[in-house]
Amino acid sequence: MRQESIGSADPLVSLFLELAHIPSPPGQERDVNDFLITRLRGLGLDVTEGEPIREGKTGAGNLFCRIPGNAPGIPILLSAHTDTVASEPDALPDPVLEDGVLRSRSRAVLGADDKSAVAAIVYCAERIVKDDIPHADVEIMLSVGEESGLLGAKSWSLDGVGSRYGFCFDSTGPVGNIIVRSPSQKTIKALFKGKAAHAGVAPEEGRSAVAAACNAIAGMKLGRLDEETTANIGLIRGGAAANVVPDRCRINGEVRSHDLDKLEEQVEAMIDSINMAAAGEEVDVELAVVEEFRAFDFSAGGPQLDMAEQAVRDIGLEPLRGSTGGGSDVNVLNLLGLPCINMSTGMEKVHTPEEYITVEALWQLHKLILALTAKALEA
Ligand SMILES: [Zn+2]
Repeated sequence: MRQESIGSADPLVSLFLELAHIPSPPGQERDVNDFLITRLRGLGLDVTEGEPIREGKTGAGNLFCRIPGNAPGIPILLSAHTDTVASEPDALPDPVLEDGVLRSRSRAVLGADDKSAVAAIVYCAERIVKDDIPHADVEIMLSVGEESGLLGAKSWSLDGVGSRYGFCFDSTGPVGNIIVRSPSQKTIKALFKGKAAHAGVAPEEGRSAVAAACNAIAGMKLGRLDEETTANIGLIRGGAAANVVPDRCRINGEVRSHDLDKLEEQVEAMIDSINMAAAGEEVDVELAVVEEFRAFDFSAGGPQLDMAEQAVRDIGLEPLRGSTGGGSDVNVLNLLGLPCINMSTGMEKVHTPEEYITVEALWQLHKLILALTAKALEA
């Protein structure tokens, strides 16, 4: 079995392994950002970093740079995130190349999500600059804190960004898959506030927050509500002991839908259920509803999707359009006003220690990104 941990002769694999060796859970992207800043500034590019999403010496902000065009065309933005999901405590990344597959030898995730895309984008930047490949303006945004609620992207603005289209590389599955549709999501947090009392001595003096929370949930339609809408209560926490009428209970939930009206309707229904249950048990309730991300839908086609699909064909693959129930930086960039689609990097089994990507997929990804920059030139 052929094994290489670092220093592969393949420059793209070598770059990926170097990145994968640097731990970068959300809020701790300092080291990986420093590595990337050095690498991009080494190309003579002007790299800026946004406000850190977390204080302290490990905190870091989004990286942004532009490769000024040397030919006319459409300015495009390439995007990926530099953080990875947090691994088990003490599990350090131990990426290895084994028979053409990049995987982790430890319990830590490989981090191909999303360092496969980071490596491919940075390697493309190096090829474009060093080989003087004709290109229009290419902008690069490498976000932080994606895995902890899209925090980096949410702190971004389009000030100073000139791109007409965004292409984010943060989806699983074979290279050539294009996510054209993703739902909106709102989270709902409710804190029921009742009155504590001895459950055996004076239960009538108490107001049970747990009873109110349970009645609220019982009155909700949850799960897959229709083909484009889902709802969930994912957390319930309250009470202190069996003999105390509980005065506090929290529930957290979410609604996702590809249709904004259906999303609003379901959120309203859940809020009604919460308020009715609180009134029924004579408890107070504090409610918070947050828009986490906004839907996008490019399934009707258009010039941006044409560019992506033609680029896939140019590297000899067949594009496949897909839909996702998940959210990513792409939703935020669309919400900010930059039309952005999400493309697969070839990474598989993400967010698990079994995560992997083949060297072949990594190279396809790099070719796809170069093909996209060429398409922007022709367009
Ligand atoms: Zn990701």
